[in-house]
Amino acid sequence: MTILVLNAGSSSLKYQLFAFKADGTHEVLSKGGVERIGLAGSFVAHKGRGGAEIRIDGDIAGHTDALKKVFAALCDKDCGVISGVGDISAFGHRILHGGEDFSSSVILTEENLEKCAKNIDLGPLHMPANLACVEACKKLKSDIPNVGVFDTAFHSTMSKTAYMYAVPYSYYTDYKIRRYGFHGTSHRYVSGQAADYLKKAGCKTSRIVTCHLGNGSSVAAVKDGKAADTSMGLTPLEGLVMGTRSGDIDPAVIEFISRKTGESISEILTVLNKKSGVLGISGVSSDFRDISAAAAAGNERAELALSVFAYHVKKYIGSYAAVLNGLDAVVFTGGVGENSADMRARITKDLDGIGIRLDEAANKSIARGVLSEISKAGEAVRILVIPTDEELVIAKETYELVGGCA
Ligand code: AMP
Repeated sequence: MTILVLNAGSSSLKYQLFAFKADGTHEVLSKGGVERIGLAGSFVAHKGRGGAEIRIDGDIAGHTDALKKVFAALCDKDCGVISGVGDISAFGHRILHGGEDFSSSVILTEENLEKCAKNIDLGPLHMPANLACVEACKKLKSDIPNVGVFDTAFHSTMSKTAYMYAVPYSYYTDYKIRRYGFHGTSHRYVSGQAADYLKKAGCKTSRIVTCHLGNGSSVAAVKDGKAADTSMGLTPLEGLVMGTRSGDIDPAVIEFISRKTGESISEILTVLNKKSGVLGISGVSSDFRDISAAAAAGNERAELALSVFAYHVKKYIGSYAAVLNGLDAVVFTGGVGENSADMRARITKDLDGIGIRLDEAANKSIARGVLSEISKAGEAVRILVIPTDEELVIAKETYELVGGCA
């Protein structure tokens, strides 16, 4: 069974093509991305057969156009991996917001698509692109299933105590204002991997904090496979300090800045989403490699950005240790969590009071792409680095929902 996984942004489209065998094992046939959809200078960057890389330039007006270009690359005469759209058995889509309607992945029937459309205002930047991509797939090949895998779904097990904001209750009933959480596919995958690891290590409970640290960052508290709490909220702006997002701030800052600068609420929210976080503090970059290099060269604001970022992750770990009544494991994943030994060391420094102690040597020498334990032997809490694979989870969900081998 051949499954095309699609992750659509407003002007981008990432894709990965998976082949599943009858025994459920899989292989990635190809992957790539379309950039600058609807803008000047659009192109497809594609990795095909044998890892061959090709780039297709040309006008790409919308997601339908983008998908046609993706198929041109997938069927390329030199490095193609399929002969046509007829070879695809199902499309798996990453959908940003499931609202309160979706607690698991679903086949995107007309009824489910109508429910998705009602949630557009919960994710106005991403949802139109996600749904446009589903429509483009239906147009291209109407007789195969489209599966929706929601970023919010894993967090649907949070209790009302955890997800309610302390605002007038009517905001919740009338406007669905509450914590939803994001990065759910990643938190689910790495917490599942960690739980399997803990079980093999003889651990009787499974109280895990998963730290997905990348450009966007979030933390989740996971008990026995179920999300108990998470740091992102109604939108991905809440929670940790991120590449360009502020994370938690006093909401009164918005009116204060508006009075000082005359900017509108929407302009200030753009600043909080795009010009804040470690970029805002450091003034250097949103990229952690650039900031680390600047900090190493003596840039004090870059150093401050890294320490504020680490401090906030640490605060959430402590808070979720309380939520879970103790911890069995802390998991690091995402571009920063998987690759930055320095950031893992900063976050776990002085946490031995709650049983978290890093093995410095192991932290610095982990192999890429595999689960690694980096805690000191004998400590109560295991520290694990687990590579995330959101596309694989979407492909597996799609495979299961459309009934295995076809
Ligand atoms: P993601 O959004 O998960 O793809 O993560 C992207 C972030 O990971 C960027 O800010 C990168 O700078 C950061 N990153 C990737 N590799 C490293 C590394 N070796 N050290 C520090 N940060 C890294």
